[in-house]
Amino acid sequence: MKVLVINAGSSSLKYQLLKTKSGEVLAKGNADRIGLDNSFIKHSRNGEEIKVIPVVLADHTDAIKAVIKVLTDKGTGVIKSLKEIEAVGHRVVHGGEKFSTSVLITPEIKVAIKACIPLAPLHNPPNITGIEACEAAMPNIPQVAVFDTAFHQTMPPKAFMYALPYEVYEEHKVRRYGFHGTSHAYVAKRAAELLGKPFVSLKLVTCHLGNGSSIAAVKHGECIDTSMGLTPLAGVCMGTRCGDIDPAIVTFLMQKEGLDAKGIDNLMNKKSGVAGISGVSSDFRDLEDASEKGNERAELALQMFEYQCKKFIGAYAAAMGGLDAVVFTAGIGENVHRVRANIIAGLEFLGMKLDTEKNKARGVEAVISTDDSNTTILMIPTNEELAIAMATEAICSKK
Ligand code: ADP
Repeated sequence: MKVLVINAGSSSLKYQLLKTKSGEVLAKGNADRIGLDNSFIKHSRNGEEIKVIPVVLADHTDAIKAVIKVLTDKGTGVIKSLKEIEAVGHRVVHGGEKFSTSVLITPEIKVAIKACIPLAPLHNPPNITGIEACEAAMPNIPQVAVFDTAFHQTMPPKAFMYALPYEVYEEHKVRRYGFHGTSHAYVAKRAAELLGKPFVSLKLVTCHLGNGSSIAAVKHGECIDTSMGLTPLAGVCMGTRCGDIDPAIVTFLMQKEGLDAKGIDNLMNKKSGVAGISGVSSDFRDLEDASEKGNERAELALQMFEYQCKKFIGAYAAAMGGLDAVVFTAGIGENVHRVRANIIAGLEFLGMKLDTEKNKARGVEAVISTDDSNTTILMIPTNEELAIAMATEAICSKK
């Protein structure tokens, strides 16, 4: 099936047209600076150089029209007409408690996605805008919503509840939701395939380590716990996000620094994490370089990240009562061997032995543990677009 995958942000709209069966990406790109001046599309056909095409993008409807144009254009296109697109899969960040799977988009579904806006005020509105723009441009093509939160909806209450007054959960739906669900589900299922064992028989920890990082405990085919929470700020420290901190720090700093809600939110989301600690960068390539040149704060940031990830693996092994495999994925998980090595170091008591040579691999599917390691350590490049396309196909074939 040819599926167009759409990831709509507030001022950008990423797209990928791919074939689900082979995973072949026919074309991909990004319509950027929507609603701003100097807007453009960065477009590439499989294996070809990226073309930057200046185009006026007043809103998301313009952006979708422009994407359709580059996909069908004689010079830049990969399809003759829109009819070749069999379905559109939309990444939707927050599905609240309502969505535990992907769904075919109907007017009622859009109302339910809009009802989740208070939980993801920055993400769900552009997601909805992207959906409506596609509906207008492609009225006869099925549209499917694939939620970042859905895979984590199997968590039991003891894992997703916060120990706040119960009414806070009832009235405001304040609870752990978790994110990167499409990626965790994809690499967990792929791990089962690579291990040659049924997904439902395994206890896995999946580590999605990128700009935003989250870790999940996947027991017998279901997520039972994850490190991100009500929002993607929780869990391990990230590029610029602080991750888990003593919650009293929030009011303490608001008083000491005279910050309002927006100010403290900005400090924790944009000025913290490994960037805030190192003062160097949020990018692990820069941190490694700086650390190698003797920058102690860059080294501290790396060590904090590694230590926090290690603790989650230990906690989740305890939560699941064992561990068959640990999976590393996303920008850092797929590329930074020192981070993987330092996370695993000392976890021999959990049956893990890293193979130093195999761990040098980058960006490929690989077993990076030794042959005699009881717990397998895997590196699996994530492919969220393919996972969204496959979920879209699965929903369409149910119709
Ligand atoms: P996101 O999708 O959340 O933006 P990614 O999964 O692409 O994030 O991860 C981005 C991060 O991965 C970068 O900030 C960088 O720290 C790290 N990264 C990506 N590629 C490399 C690399 N080749 N070497 C070291 N770090 C890398």
